[in-house]
Amino acid sequence: MIIGIDLGTTNSLCAYYSEEGAKIIPNRLGKPLTPSVVSVDEQGVVSVGETAKEYALMHPDRAASVFKRFMGTDKQYQLGNYEYHSEELSAFVLRALKEDAETYLNEEITEAVISVPAYFDDKRRKATKRAGELAGLKVERIISEPTAAAIAYGLYEKRKSTRFLVFDLGGGTFDVSILELFENILEVRAVAGDNYLGGEDFTDILVNAFLEEHEISVDSLTLRELGKLHQAAETAKCEFSDKDEVTIAFRYHEEEKEYTISLKDYEALCEPLLEKIRKPIQRSLSDAHIKLSDIDEVVLVGGATKLSAVHNFIVKLFRKFPDTSINPDEAVALGAAIQAAMKERNEAVKEVILTDVCSFTLGTEVCVERGNGSFEAGHFMPILDRNTVIPASRTERVYTLHDNQESIRVNVLQGESRFAQNNLLLGSMTVNVPKGAAGEEAIDITYTYDINSLLEVEVKVVSTGEVKKQVIKGKSNDMSEEEVKQRMEELSYLKVHPRDQEENRLLLLKGERLYEESTGDVRIRIDMWLRAFEEALNSRSREKIEDARRELREQLAGVERNI
Ligand code: AMP
Repeated sequence: MIIGIDLGTTNSLCAYYSEEGAKIIPNRLGKPLTPSVVSVDEQGVVSVGETAKEYALMHPDRAASVFKRFMGTDKQYQLGNYEYHSEELSAFVLRALKEDAETYLNEEITEAVISVPAYFDDKRRKATKRAGELAGLKVERIISEPTAAAIAYGLYEKRKSTRFLVFDLGGGTFDVSILELFENILEVRAVAGDNYLGGEDFTDILVNAFLEEHEISVDSLTLRELGKLHQAAETAKCEFSDKDEVTIAFRYHEEEKEYTISLKDYEALCEPLLEKIRKPIQRSLSDAHIKLSDIDEVVLVGGATKLSAVHNFIVKLFRKFPDTSINPDEAVALGAAIQAAMKERNEAVKEVILTDVCSFTLGTEVCVERGNGSFEAGHFMPILDRNTVIPASRTERVYTLHDNQESIRVNVLQGESRFAQNNLLLGSMTVNVPKGAAGEEAIDITYTYDINSLLEVEVKVVSTGEVKKQVIKGKSNDMSEEEVKQRMEELSYLKVHPRDQEENRLLLLKGERLYEESTGDVRIRIDMWLRAFEEALNSRSREKIEDARRELREQLAGVERNI
């Protein structure tokens, strides 16, 4: 059996194909989604998913998340004493999914179809494939996420040529793809998106409305309180799915406060976010040289498309109802599983992918002016946006910051974060400028990126015309078969937490965290419960462990509600 895997930025999931169609495989905790989070504890034991996410709350320096953004790059993640590349962390996630599939299907799984964003270039597709190999999976095929979603909806079965738009709004990212089906080939015609727009922003709208209503300043909340309020807003947001009015309840400084808002008012507050959604849609349409009315179908992917505000916006914009018969969280994994089954029968959907785009944003580090006239260093200024069709060349001008400044240093960065330090430093160069008043001297920075991943950086001092150039070559991180094998052995030295004990470990971690967060009597009680649970674990009696686990789960949930 070949399984289909959606290796996501925040969550991953896998599916298989049976007589009754494609089905999601639940993970070891019985859940469909496995958070794409990896942790390594002091003993070198690796955890993946919800357990790693819980562990990360107390040991952020020993866990990594959102590493998919750096797939195929040299960025290293330090987890305690260990260092990993994005593809190795992804391998841990894939290994966990593989094990869960093996247990659920009761057979060994050695092959998979894995999905990647449509804008992943060859290098990142190869790195994803290698992640699969490191996890002991032969990657039968890499498939683009929008193609997989289209397959899940059966769009490849259409007789005539069809154009559709895949609208993917996840927790923190928004991707639009325009696909065209023509004689059994699915072509990705254009992709666009916003890396900093997602369901979380729609939750923040409710958080801010609550704070405004009660005239509470966000700075007066601790991180923990803010997290609680965010959680309450998140729950309320999801309740809009079947309610016209929701209430957020939150205890602020020992006082219970409530805020009720109607769907109509909430949608009005969401207007600026919906406007932001419009832009990438327009850009993808113009890149594909088609009009909005040329779109035959709209396919929804990502949890945030369940929001009625988003749904209504789509209906109004496209003047048609999108098909919602498939859970948008699951569409990509289901499509990958169908592709896997078709592959086995030798009739897989063929796709044409977009690889001649610059897949990362390339920019430089700058200082930005704050309202009071002071400057803040460390900000990222994009020069070539991701998804720019290559070859491409763009120039930005930057000015001196201090009086009598003698030189300007240009850091060449790749990545999507607003902050330079979170992006990858590719190189740097320094040019001398004539002394003068602050802001009088300037340099023009030109980035030219070509099809062979060569980035030429040219810095020109405006007043003197002096030019400095540097060519940065995208490093090939191809590994030989030998190297893959060797790294696989190295990684397998690490013990992965036994899957049958996963829930116990998750509860113990949660208990330890709540112990640290509480004081007084609550603390004493948590300690008592944890000891009772540990005792049950030592008894090795299945029945005792299950009873103790149920009890501890309820007790901790009670504490969490009251913190
Ligand atoms: P994903 O990254 O695709 O798992 O999407 C996660 C986002 O979907 C989060 O921001 C969730 O708040 C949002 N989401 C999930 N379910 C719902 C729902 N029923 N209504 C509104 N938003 C939802």
